[in-house]
Amino acid sequence: LTSSGDKVREAYIEFFRDKKEHDFIASSPVVPLNDPTLLFANAGMNQFKPIFLGQLEPNSPLQGVARAVNSQKCIRAGGKHNDLDDVGKDVYHHTFFEMLGNWSFGDYFKEEAINWAWELLTEVYGLDPERLYASYFAGDEELGLPADVEAKEMWEKLLPPERVLPFDRKDNFWEMGATGPCGPCSELHYDRLGGRDAAALVNADDPDVIEIWNLVFMQFYREDDGTLTELPSRHIDTGMGLERVTSVLQDKRSNYDTDIFGPLLAALHDLVGGDPYQGRVGEEDVGMRDTAYRIIVDHARTLTLAVVDGAMPSSEGRGYVLRRILRRAVRYGRSKLQAPPGFFSQLVPKVADCLGVAFPELNEGAKRVESVLREEEAAFDRTVDRGMQFFEALRDELTAEGKSIIPGDQAFLLYDTHGFPLDLTEQMAQEAGFTLDSAGFEAAMEKQKERSREALREQQAQKSEGLQPLELVAEQTAWLGDRKVPITDDDP
Ligand code: ATP
Ligand code: MG
Ligand code: MG
Ligand code: MG
Repeated sequence: LTSSGDKVREAYIEFFRDKKEHDFIASSPVVPLNDPTLLFANAGMNQFKPIFLGQLEPNSPLQGVARAVNSQKCIRAGGKHNDLDDVGKDVYHHTFFEMLGNWSFGDYFKEEAINWAWELLTEVYGLDPERLYASYFAGDEELGLPADVEAKEMWEKLLPPERVLPFDRKDNFWEMGATGPCGPCSELHYDRLGGRDAAALVNADDPDVIEIWNLVFMQFYREDDGTLTELPSRHIDTGMGLERVTSVLQDKRSNYDTDIFGPLLAALHDLVGGDPYQGRVGEEDVGMRDTAYRIIVDHARTLTLAVVDGAMPSSEGRGYVLRRILRRAVRYGRSKLQAPPGFFSQLVPKVADCLGVAFPELNEGAKRVESVLREEEAAFDRTVDRGMQFFEALRDELTAEGKSIIPGDQAFLLYDTHGFPLDLTEQMAQEAGFTLDSAGFEAAMEKQKERSREALREQQAQKSEGLQPLELVAEQTAWLGDRKVPITDDDP
């Protein structure tokens, strides 16, 4: 079955709403409303947490809802789930993605969840059952729990036993936190290639055998002392990645080859020129153009959805995560695709085009989002330009002196005041025919760390001499706010 991403989403919601009597409950904002423990919504169940905890407000619109379905906007770029480092490197982890989900709140349980998942995948979506693998909880001594034989037997009615696989706690036991509701889960994995025994590739980070759907059977409560008790009512919480299942249905080996990302990659190509996206991954992607394409379109979706839901790039907390994500995208664009200044925010209207059907808030909000991002990007472009100028002046000076090594303390200055990660400076150095003293860079970094430790000790000493804590906080934030800290070491 070939189907647009929009159709895949629609078919999921229709199936559970019209055939299985679920209520459609709109996605909650990616910026959580009442949950300070959460950076961004990272799963469909977030907004239903009060139900699972038995803490639903009496006047909540969720009162009386026994079954729910939706497509939840998720961001996994910090906190418990942080997929930022995988984005661009692989073709199936995004920072922003949609999680299709169906829920039972004390209503149906394991058998319906499993059979309906199977019905949707094989009958509605028409997936080849031969390509599917199911996993179940293998049991855990420490938790004092046996294997989930029930789930195993249910799957074995649908699949041959060699494609029903046990996994331990890491993959097949779900917990909300250190305490709270929890339970075993079963997942569906799909072999993109087929015609082979792929059992050993399940849960092994293979790009062609990917996890598509997680079905959580919430039936225990973990107490403060670690013991598990049975919940008074049992719940179902499922999550399927829309981009992944769409890639499967469109018979593509990459989420980026679907119509969900196609228009965005084309829009980016229009802005940067040169070769269009070619889908190369890892070492094959010499020059990292395709990696940059993936990172930029992914990050454009994340920034757009986060800002439309009320977040703002800033120097603290959630806003700082967004600022770093934007800078990461801009750096990849400018250094790998030779993108012109200001390219990034111009992707916002395209993101709104693509996702406005599912999330109408984008139709009204896109203009505002674009102007927020335009400003943020311009400020960063200026920093980048200043860094480039600094580098060029340094290069000319060293050349005039007949030198061919960039001193470590200069590379550190670029890092510390201009936010250039070491490997970007290394790359520029190489292009200019220089080498770089990386040991000197490390030494300068170490010195700086020692200086901050010293400063902190002094501050603490002053604090005990009566400086107001609030002034202290202000000082520290200002200092942090001005520093440009790179995101990961391998960023350009
Ligand atoms: P993975 O093992 O691939 O990282 P996960 O086990 O962390 O996935 P779950 O928390 O079980 O994922 O989320 C439910 C579903 O959401 C997954 O089966 C997958 O289809 C989808 N999903 C999870 N993380 C991402 C992501 N970063 N990008 C796109 N889809 C994702
Ligand atoms: Mg994960
Ligand atoms: Mg997993
Ligand atoms: Mg999972």
